[in-house]
Amino acid sequence: MSLDRRQFLKGMLAGSASAVACTPTRVEARGNLTMPPKAMGLLFDSTLCIGCKACVAACKEANGLPPEFTKPDDVWDTPLDISGKTKNIIKVYRHGSGLTKDAEVDGYAFMKHSCLHCVDPSCVSACPVSAMRKDPVDGIVSYDEKACIGCRYCVVACPFSVPKFEYDKALPKIVKCELCRHLKPGDAFQYPACAQVCPTGATLYGPVADLKAEAQRRLALKPGSEAEFPRGRIGMAPGDKTADATTWASPSQKASFADSHVARVPHYLQRIYGDKELGGTQVLKLSAVPMAKLGMPELPERSFASVSETMQHSLYGYLITPAIVLGGLIIAARRNVRPEEDEAGQAQENE
Ligand code: SF4
Ligand code: SF4
Ligand code: SF4
Repeated sequence: MSLDRRQFLKGMLAGSASAVACTPTRVEARGNLTMPPKAMGLLFDSTLCIGCKACVAACKEANGLPPEFTKPDDVWDTPLDISGKTKNIIKVYRHGSGLTKDAEVDGYAFMKHSCLHCVDPSCVSACPVSAMRKDPVDGIVSYDEKACIGCRYCVVACPFSVPKFEYDKALPKIVKCELCRHLKPGDAFQYPACAQVCPTGATLYGPVADLKAEAQRRLALKPGSEAEFPRGRIGMAPGDKTADATTWASPSQKASFADSHVARVPHYLQRIYGDKELGGTQVLKLSAVPMAKLGMPELPERSFASVSETMQHSLYGYLITPAIVLGGLIIAARRNVRPEEDEAGQAQENE
């Protein structure tokens, strides 16, 4: 994706409308940040997802989140998107007859939406009080409600529209996936709940290096053949919740899969989403349907945070804050992908 200057400036002006009152910040010019040494994350394989939404329910349970009623009967938890009550959602893409799984034409496919734990996160860059932080070791992007001043710059800055504000609360917080970092030994969930309950291994937890190797293994499999797909987590000794490089096993050793699921290899698109986008994310995604159709934006390899902070370093940068620049970049990026979104828009709806 390329941002033309006119689109960027238009977006930047639009972004600035909500952020003119903030204090200028000086930072050094820089390139993308790099993956932390023991980065942890998720691999979501759209082709393995059966849309059961066990991950949505487990996420709510693990995070103590209430149901969301969007239908008149108020009986079922029916979130339409991630929100202040929902950190994780499964959306469905549908086209034409919608009969064939993982087909772009006359088919359907699922996509998980939650925080991607960006390697160089815009939300962290935009936050003026460091309430959004990226752990230097495991790379989890966390939120500190005690530090948060409610400015919502992180909401404006996130390219994936992830952080949500609790507008309906007297003392609102930002809500987003924190990779279940709060779980302790003895809890019902020992590692990210969405991965722990997923019956097919569509959502898998582990060190990003192992998840990437597993994604590459899948892309090299022969379509139509039968293969084994790990479930739950990979690359970690039983009982470990946090990354420990000394216990990592190679996912290429099939025998190391503690639990697995056998399925036919689909016609994967040869792309690992999150490997390069904005300098990489710790949540990686595979699919057989183009990512843009599944609601994932096409993004450049240079992180918006590095662009924003570099502009801040320039002379005129003293007049604008990261939130203004990031808001502009996000709006311009969304405008850039609109034609594809529109095409997919009629087909993509919440399940
Ligand atoms: S639990 Fe797994 S298979 Fe079920 S909806 Fe979630 S990702 Fe898909
Ligand atoms: S997806 Fe959004 S909220 Fe999550 S780390 Fe990236 S910028 Fe922050
Ligand atoms: S890692 Fe935890 S908080 Fe994040 S989507 Fe999965 S269950 Fe929800």
